[in-house]
Amino acid sequence: MRILVALIGRTMPGFHPLLDLIGKEFGATVTTEFLDMPITRSFRSQRGQYDAEVFLKELAPMVSHHADMTAFITREDLFAGGLNFVFGLASGRNCIVSLARLDPRFYGPVSSPAKANAIFKERIQKETLHELGHTSGLGHCDDKNCVMSFSNSLEEVDAKGRAFCERCKKEIKTKSG
Ligand SMILES: [Zn+2]
Ligand SMILES: [Zn+2]
Repeated sequence: MRILVALIGRTMPGFHPLLDLIGKEFGATVTTEFLDMPITRSFRSQRGQYDAEVFLKELAPMVSHHADMTAFITREDLFAGGLNFVFGLASGRNCIVSLARLDPRFYGPVSSPAKANAIFKERIQKETLHELGHTSGLGHCDDKNCVMSFSNSLEEVDAKGRAFCERCKKEIKTKSG
């Protein structure tokens, strides 16, 4: 299986450890691509957010690498449907992860930048694995430690583990043949 991680716009902390983790958890070859922030119809100026579904549809054809699944990573704040915000969204062979609300600095000044970065990196890893899990066909998992458990808040993101449980791992293997 080949997974593409497409980073939109600026850099992010912990990019290379993220690629290693994805490779390990999915048993996949991971490639990367860097995209400039495109001109998009998905921005909603009244709310200052991007419509995740529209944005993901626009992004999908913009990559030049072929892959079985693609994860787009953006700094922009996303919403979807009736939800005020989403950490990410999966659709078809693609998913998108928003870094905006995973960054502790989104909510105000932090006392320790190093600690904030460590938390930020861990959240990025969990949410990217989670969305790629959906992309590979997994639903939400009842195991609270599993990265596929549903998280509606950062507390729940922080509480769960950074890996798939054995059951989810098996399902990924079955699906990727
Ligand atoms: Zn989910
Ligand atoms: Zn699981």
